[in-house]
Parts: sequence; C-alpha cells; structure tokens
Amino acid sequence: MKIAEFIKKNHIKPSDCIYHTWRQPLNKKKERAGNIRVIVWKKEAPKARVEYTCPECGFTGYLETIWKRPFFIRCEKCGFRISVPRMKDEIKRERKQLN
Ligand SMILES: [Zn+2]
Repeated sequence: MKIAEFIKKNHIKPSDCIYHTWRQPLNKKKERAGNIRVIVWKKEAPKARVEYTCPECGFTGYLETIWKRPFFIRCEKCGFRISVPRMKDEIKRERKQLN
C-alpha cells in the first residue's frame, strides 16, 4: 500500500490534495474489476501517484505520472489502458471552480 504509506508519512489531509480517488475500473468486457487509486498532492502537482490492480491481467503496480484530463495509465504488464472516468460530483465541483 504505497499510497497509504505516503499519506501517513506526510500527514496528508484531503484538503492537501488536488485529486484523490479510489475506483474500480472497467476491463475489456466493460465489467468492473481490479482497482486504481490516484493521488495528486498539492506540493507535488502535476505529479500523480498511481497504485493499481489491472482489471485485465490482475497485475498490481505503482507508478508516477503527470496528472491530466482525461486521466489514464497503461498496465505495465499487459499494456491495457486503465482509465479513471469523471464522477458526477467531480464535474459539479469543477463547474463550481469555473464560475
Ligand atoms: Zn494488465
């Protein structure tokens, strides 16, 4: 649990994050499987820390990348594209920030 350790070590609160989510992504059959956790710490932005279990092959990995929309990563083992779709409440929040 790299992200959990990272949060604990740095005493990161939700308000210290630009983005933090934990989802069940879709596999090729559009079924929810595996999981993906993404955190973007204000101090490190736009760096995103990503921990995942691939919904296709079950590989569990960790990587760091640049945060951008739409956000997706590729499984380091099978190359499957794991995307993190927007949630309705996130869209609302983003709209609020624009107004
Ligand atoms: Zn995979």
